[in-house]
Amino acid sequence: MKEIKSPQKNWMYFALIAAVVIMLLNIFLFPNLMSPQVQEVPYSTFLEMLARGEVGEVSQDDAQITFSDRSLEKNYYKTGPMDDPELINRLSEAGVAFSKPIVTPASPMISFLLSWIIPIGFFVLIGRLLSRQMSKAGGMNAMQLGKSNAKIYIESQTGVTFSDVAGQEEAKEALQEVVDFLHNPGKYTEVGAVMPKGVLLVGPPGTGKTLLAKAVAGEAEVPFFSISGSEFVEMFVGMGAAKVRDLFKQAYEKAPCIVFIDEIDTIGKRRDNPSGFGGNDEREQTLNQLLSEMDGFDGRKGVMILAATNRPDILDPALTRPGRFDRRIPVELPDLSGRIAILKVHAKKVKMDSRVDLSRIARAAAGASGADLANMINEAALRAVRGGRKVVTQEDLEESIEVVIAGYQKKDRVLSDKEKKIVAYHEVGHAIVAALVGGSAPVHKITIIPRTSGALGYTMQVDEEERFLRTREEIENKITTFAGGRAAEELVFDTVTTGAANDIEQATKLARAMITRFGMAEEFGMVALERETDQYLGGNMVGNCSSETQGRIDRLTVEIVNKQYKRAYQLLEENQRELHSIAQVLYEKETITGDEFMALLSAPRRLDPGEQAGITE
Ligand code: ADP
Ligand code: MG
Ligand code: ZN
Repeated sequence: MKEIKSPQKNWMYFALIAAVVIMLLNIFLFPNLMSPQVQEVPYSTFLEMLARGEVGEVSQDDAQITFSDRSLEKNYYKTGPMDDPELINRLSEAGVAFSKPIVTPASPMISFLLSWIIPIGFFVLIGRLLSRQMSKAGGMNAMQLGKSNAKIYIESQTGVTFSDVAGQEEAKEALQEVVDFLHNPGKYTEVGAVMPKGVLLVGPPGTGKTLLAKAVAGEAEVPFFSISGSEFVEMFVGMGAAKVRDLFKQAYEKAPCIVFIDEIDTIGKRRDNPSGFGGNDEREQTLNQLLSEMDGFDGRKGVMILAATNRPDILDPALTRPGRFDRRIPVELPDLSGRIAILKVHAKKVKMDSRVDLSRIARAAAGASGADLANMINEAALRAVRGGRKVVTQEDLEESIEVVIAGYQKKDRVLSDKEKKIVAYHEVGHAIVAALVGGSAPVHKITIIPRTSGALGYTMQVDEEERFLRTREEIENKITTFAGGRAAEELVFDTVTTGAANDIEQATKLARAMITRFGMAEEFGMVALERETDQYLGGNMVGNCSSETQGRIDRLTVEIVNKQYKRAYQLLEENQRELHSIAQVLYEKETITGDEFMALLSAPRRLDPGEQAGITE
């Protein structure tokens, strides 16, 4: 993208001036640096040297005697003058050249110039330059306060286009319409259509919201202002609002144009202030300014406001009402075909082995965002280089999925024999239960190589196809699968370890959601007992019921999890022989593939596709 304006340049002047000043100071304060070294000696030494015939030239003024020796490099010495009437005789006796420097009295004109005019002129010049900087800063204050530092982009040359964004077809379509509106407003106004003032891109992190905005900048042949919400947050009250004002002033001058505010939630948070205690006045003022600017201009002028956020739930309702950000474009996590498309876009940037099957990778990477997928391709390329290969292979890609999901292999973590055995049984417990309960995704890989994420091993399940709905039985089976790890530990070692912490968390979350959100508990039926906030950032549950009901939910959650744990335990008990033999193989090989596992289990592979893919630690 071509950037027109860069406010940073001014600092170059300051740096230059500072350098010159320092140089001048050096010359004035340390003249010795510039002239030969002069050594100070006592008068007696001078006389001794003179007697020995070592003195070269001598010159005397009122303040000092300066003389040189007769050595090759000609060292200089100085000494204070003494009231010594003999000196001239001695000097001529020794045949030394001596003189007194001729002092021409400086004309009063020149000395006045040197001591007054030049220094004053110098300071006036600096003052001028400084004040020029200040007035450039908008007259607010010395340091460019209140100036929006939005970058202006126009028509990109090397920039991003819509073809770089994969798998977000709806979002691209909606944005293309906006771009079209800016190019051919007549086509729309003829029918009486009014351009939406603001478009809000909402979705989880890493799904390509910023990328989409950049693509709009690349495609729309109009000026594009880009600024991040956090850039409005200033140290001084009122500065954020001033920046908003300045941004819109610039936008008007350049209309038709697009203004993009990334991470708008930083300034667009709901204004309610429960603490009632000062609060964030600055943010509120900035938001108010933004709201009034959006009301102030009329859409026909052609200023289009684009914003992105992953916290739509905390935005102030005033921002999202019609007439402001009235169009909301969801940018969700990609589905299977979207993931394949994204992998293809990024695969173009690296050299791929021709046998690579990207759809297999996409299937294994369920739940990954566009940023995760881009990261996977890059990790695979790095791994290929590490292995001394010229192209990225399927194996590189498969490993990179695990790196992105579970972290790097932690080679220096050495498990004791006993621990390794427990982890092996734990993972095989998950895998066997998953295979037996049915309706669960086939096991893809089991490993007991520790990962930097802290997992000591995991079981990876990959679905044949993508699932969007889950039945109650499938969720129950999933909980049983989570319980399988600990059940195996208890069955074989008669004790339990801390290794199941993650399983317990996940199982509890699922069981609770069955009751509070999916309406799968008879006792409550179709009543929402919890509300999800923050859905794009992991999700937080907010209770929506009495504390008495809370107690019942807790009891019911325990019941569900315990029931599934018993079931897992029973399944493993019935298949103890397989549990032991497969755990032994895993212990020795550390990693076994899904096919190897199924062969060892010698159970008929269930064909009904079930659960979403995922990993169980
Ligand atoms: P967001 O702003 O939604 O958090 P970004 O737009 O910053 O996410 O995406 C980060 C990176 O992830 C992009 O630079 C791009 O490399 C990759 N990416 C994300 N989504 C997509 C997509 N749909 N198509 C291609 N690349 C994507
Ligand atoms: Mg972003
Ligand atoms: Zn586990």
